[in-house]
Amino acid sequence: MQDSLASSAHDAPIFAPDAFRLTPFQAELLDKARGFGRRVLALRATKYDREASFPIENFRDMHREGLLAICIPREEGGLGADFATYCLAAAELGRYCGATALSWNMHVCSTLWSGALADDLPMSEAERSAHNARRRMHYRRILDHGAIYAQPFSEGGAAAAGAVAFGTEARPVEGGFRVGGKKIFASLSGAADYYGVLCTERAQGDTASRRNTLYLAIPAAAEGVSVVGDWDPLGMRGTVSRTLLLEDVFVPEQEMLMPHGVYFQAATRWPHMFLTLSPTYMGLAQAAYDFTVAYLRGEMPGTPPVKRRMYPTKQIAVAEMHIALEQTKALWFQAISEARPDPSKEQVLRAYAAQATVMENANAIAAKALRTCGGQAMLKPLALERIYRDSRCGSLMLPWTAEICIDRIGREALYQPGEKD
Ligand SMILES: Cc1cc2nc3c(=O)[nH]c(=O)nc-3n(C[C@H](O)[C@H](O)[C@H](O)COP(=O)(O)OP(=O)(O)OC[C@H]3O[C@@H](n4cnc5c(N)ncnc54)[C@H](O)[C@@H]3O)c2cc1C
Repeated sequence: MQDSLASSAHDAPIFAPDAFRLTPFQAELLDKARGFGRRVLALRATKYDREASFPIENFRDMHREGLLAICIPREEGGLGADFATYCLAAAELGRYCGATALSWNMHVCSTLWSGALADDLPMSEAERSAHNARRRMHYRRILDHGAIYAQPFSEGGAAAAGAVAFGTEARPVEGGFRVGGKKIFASLSGAADYYGVLCTERAQGDTASRRNTLYLAIPAAAEGVSVVGDWDPLGMRGTVSRTLLLEDVFVPEQEMLMPHGVYFQAATRWPHMFLTLSPTYMGLAQAAYDFTVAYLRGEMPGTPPVKRRMYPTKQIAVAEMHIALEQTKALWFQAISEARPDPSKEQVLRAYAAQATVMENANAIAAKALRTCGGQAMLKPLALERIYRDSRCGSLMLPWTAEICIDRIGREALYQPGEKD
């Protein structure tokens, strides 16, 4: 099965290097990501979507290409991409296979959050040196063996939205922790070598607190780890996000991806870390637009060369899609460029606005693409119906669902901290 995007000619950069003032390193990396997406991911996307199977071949290829190590610092052997550069590369991959880009995001965050992001947060000298030694071990697993890390946080309650402490708990014991709990929607389940789990560190007698959130890499092969349930969703089928059970799993201390208390600091002081789910959907928005232009021009591979571009209604629809896409790109680019510790209130509100806009517009553009291209465009061999289904998932993703972003913008725009009525 070959995806119709595989041979699409419409794959200019989403963010042109000169227009968006990208550095030569960024331009080169995005070129590499786009080439890889078109050459490799697009060819396999249909198969993983149909089977709802994990794109393990893509991950093996991404290891060979160095992409599993995109956010590992250069001095440690990785590509050394910073937050914005990673986001731009992920958008390019998202154009060709949403499920691969989204799963890749879960993996990359384990290196980005323990890497560049942790470097921005205060730690004692001893803590930093112990952290650097631990993360080097994670980096080596990825660089030398292509190890894959997942990021299962969600539990089906209010914890993933940041409202309460995680119900999955880590009890300190000699040499490490005993971990118990359940994670739903664990993308990469069954394929990951390590599960980067957020849990509450809690000694006997302590009360559970979000301040004690621990970010631990739990080996998939550890005793007490199992994956249960099935996975047959509307979209993002290749993420294989089944349920992860952790039953009294012993996890050595060296598996800490961040030192004690640092995840809580990151979540409060480096909020753009939660924008990392959005690049995939930025890519899907571009893909839906590109599909429409190629289809209406009669240039979509696998379809007869029938032109539909001469109808004014099609032209208006494409113009509307173009405007929505440019609005989305501009806001999102600004927001990812502002990622830093302790951003201003305005920057945080803009990050929420960018997240909500990308997640909602990706699906709105894909819906308009289907309506405009017509019935033949929704047939399975073409990529558009997959893009449409995948794009529907973005606004549901915690912690920054589109609803939560809107909720926070409304409240935080009208109230200063501490104000009440
Ligand atoms: C394709 C896909 C892959 C995923 N992969 C992962 C993964 O790898 N790891 C992971 O941890 N999770 C993952 N998730 C899970 C995701 O982040 C959500 O946790 C999941 O969709 C929760 O669904 P729910 O119905 O339990 O949400 P609920 O918690 O029931 O929330 C339902 C809706 O209510 C709203 N809501 C919830 N809490 C609040 C609040 N405090 N204030 C205001 N509104 C609120 C939100 O808009 C939310 O969409 C994935 C989801 C999808 C769709």
